[in-house]
Amino acid sequence: MKIAFIGLGNMGGGMAANLVKAGHDVHAFDLSEQALARAKDSGCSTYTSVREAVQGAEAVVSMLPNGKIVESVYTSDVIGHAPSSALLLDCSTIDVDTARRVGAAAAAAGHDMVDAPVSGGIAAAAGGTLTFMVGGTAEGFVRAEPILAAMGKAVIHAGASGAGQAAKICNNMILGATMIATCEAFALAEKLGLDLQTFYDISSKASGQSWSMTAYCPAPGVGPASPADNGYQGGFAAALMLKDLKLAMEAAASAGAKVPMGARAEELYEAFSAAGNGGVDFSGIIKTL
Ligand code: NAD
Repeated sequence: MKIAFIGLGNMGGGMAANLVKAGHDVHAFDLSEQALARAKDSGCSTYTSVREAVQGAEAVVSMLPNGKIVESVYTSDVIGHAPSSALLLDCSTIDVDTARRVGAAAAAAGHDMVDAPVSGGIAAAAGGTLTFMVGGTAEGFVRAEPILAAMGKAVIHAGASGAGQAAKICNNMILGATMIATCEAFALAEKLGLDLQTFYDISSKASGQSWSMTAYCPAPGVGPASPADNGYQGGFAAALMLKDLKLAMEAAASAGAKVPMGARAEELYEAFSAAGNGGVDFSGIIKTL
């Protein structure tokens, strides 16, 4: 299938390479020359504008930094330039309202469009093991599933347009809050004289268990290998967690939902990032406790 791919950064670069491996003809565009050169090395053909890349495309996939850029790329250069039969898939993490607005503009021009944000970081993008949460019509989902399956291990229909973004930010709001709670518990356990491995052995089998503890333990040397064992480098940067928490707070304000724990997690990650730790793995917040 002829697939245009817009945004070949840390995530998009690996995803586009997996589409090539699956036998697709990938037409790539990015503002960065370096990103385009890497895409070329992985077998994509490269173009000098979005409009050129989407010409004659059967599908368009995007992996861009934020909602403002996604809206501008789709409304200025994709809609009205890609064939109206082309399926549009935005995999970026953006706010729910923008995802719905862009989805509506695409539908008005005759496109099926899905929002399909991902769970999983740069390694999962390169390894083709992302989880996609998909918002859109049933027909759009059926068309999107095989394309997304070439880049991931799970593709789940979350509901109508915007539902993929809603699922993503609700999930990551749990993650931000549970990571901080887990960090606090390990810091307190240490001060109370508990051996941290012993505390892990107990809590990981008791009601305090969570993904933050058993898959990504913030205490070094405890649980499976995680960024804590690597000086809190690699993994999921605190700045990206903060981005997702801000999106969750915007969505909560727009929907009139009360999210006091999410709001506190946002404040703590804001302070952590402002202190120069934006590039540190988000579990590194334990160092402040
Ligand atoms: P990145 O900054 O590495 O890549 C974004 C790319 O988009 C860059 O190469 C940039 O040059 C390009 N770009 C920007 N504006 C453009 C435009 N107008 N036209 C074409 N290209 C343009 O970011 P990333 O880490 O790959 O993240 C991409 C998206 O994935 C974000 O929405 C992010 O929140 C989400 N995400 C990232 C991770 C992660 O671990 N990095 C995990 C899950 C989701």
